Amino acid sequence: MPNIAIIGSGPAGCFLAEILALKLSDVQIDIYERLSHPFGLAVSGVAPDHLHTRKVTEQFERTLARDNVKLIVNTEVGSTISYSELKQHYDRVVFATGASEDRRLGIPGEHLTGVYGSGCFTRWYNSHPEHKDVQPLIGQRVGIIGNGNVALDIARVLAKTAQEHQASALSEPVRTHLAKSNISEIHIFGRRGPADASFSLPELTELGTLAQAEVQVSSDALIGIEAQNLPPSQKKMLQQLQQYAETPADASAAIQIQFHFYATPVAAIGTTQLEALEIRDSRLDNLDSSSLESLPLDSLQLDTLITAIGYYTPAIAGVPYDAERGRFAHNQGKIEPGVYCLGWCQRGPQGVIPTNRSEAMNLARQLIRELESQDVD
Ligand code: NAP
Repeated sequence: MPNIAIIGSGPAGCFLAEILALKLSDVQIDIYERLSHPFGLAVSGVAPDHLHTRKVTEQFERTLARDNVKLIVNTEVGSTISYSELKQHYDRVVFATGASEDRRLGIPGEHLTGVYGSGCFTRWYNSHPEHKDVQPLIGQRVGIIGNGNVALDIARVLAKTAQEHQASALSEPVRTHLAKSNISEIHIFGRRGPADASFSLPELTELGTLAQAEVQVSSDALIGIEAQNLPPSQKKMLQQLQQYAETPADASAAIQIQFHFYATPVAAIGTTQLEALEIRDSRLDNLDSSSLESLPLDSLQLDTLITAIGYYTPAIAGVPYDAERGRFAHNQGKIEPGVYCLGWCQRGPQGVIPTNRSEAMNLARQLIRELESQDVD
């Protein structure tokens, strides 16, 4: 009986297993998982208050229950089992290990207490076994670097009241820690302008619906953007930002969520603990020939800083790796004959959970063709 190993039981691995299990009933599919439980990003990355997104795990449970699918937990490829052992034992190997490591900003002060990568922070509030004891220092003034959906997820989770979090999938210790925090300001920094933000409209709009928070956008940042040339989704985003900019200040809001555009982080300031973030107006970068060092800096006092600037895939001993891109080295998903990669470890940390389904479909077609013709190259 031919067999296939899938490394990683997150969305990419589970979608692929489902398609293969349905189409190739005479093929054994083993899914290797490093942790004691499956589903990767679907449980440790998706925000704890977005329960509708997490529902995909119900579908994955059914995949794991199929006769020709086996989940092998607590097994790390590269340590518990080697890459060469895998290649010896399986007809095909597919890496779907995601991108678990936080990218670094590379600015001074990133090591200070109070500075966290978004992967570490979101895994903490999602009770990931390796991060559940992080106990982050959440002070009154929180900064989040990045203009993606992860940045907005974190801002929303932090700004929600205990009541709004009632239905959220939070452990008791995380719930208590969040309830004890006394946040009054959340600053979201994007190094480019509003038209280049990568967050989505529903996430942006949701911020404006929170019980105790008010969203602030400086109308200056919206001046000069030629919206007519933008795609409809960007136009709607700008309209939403414009609406935030025009909404009169609400003195009763306990938390101000302030967007800062064109704000390049330069240094996190503090001796052992974070005290402030220095930022540069990125619009000045190309204005004249002055060196970046001589451009004026703004400094904003902060107690907590979360960098939500993307992730990379850690290398696995023996598996060809592209260190520059932080993912496996591959040609259209093929690492070497009989070995493939799928999801974030293939394309980088971009795309939503359903993106993995269509990509898994394409790879499954190829694997089926190969196995039916026994064509390994
Ligand atoms: P992302 O969308 O790529 O956003 C990363 C942000 O970090 C960008 O604004 C980027 O700015 C900024 N950045 C990168 N390097 C930087 C640096 N050195 N200094 C300052 N800023 C920097 O990634 P993400 O938010 O981590 O999300 C990952 C994927 O998961 C995305 O496809 C996202 O849509 C998806 N996701 C979806 C949901 C949802 O659907 N609810 C929730 C969470 C995540 P530049 O654009 O200038 O590079």
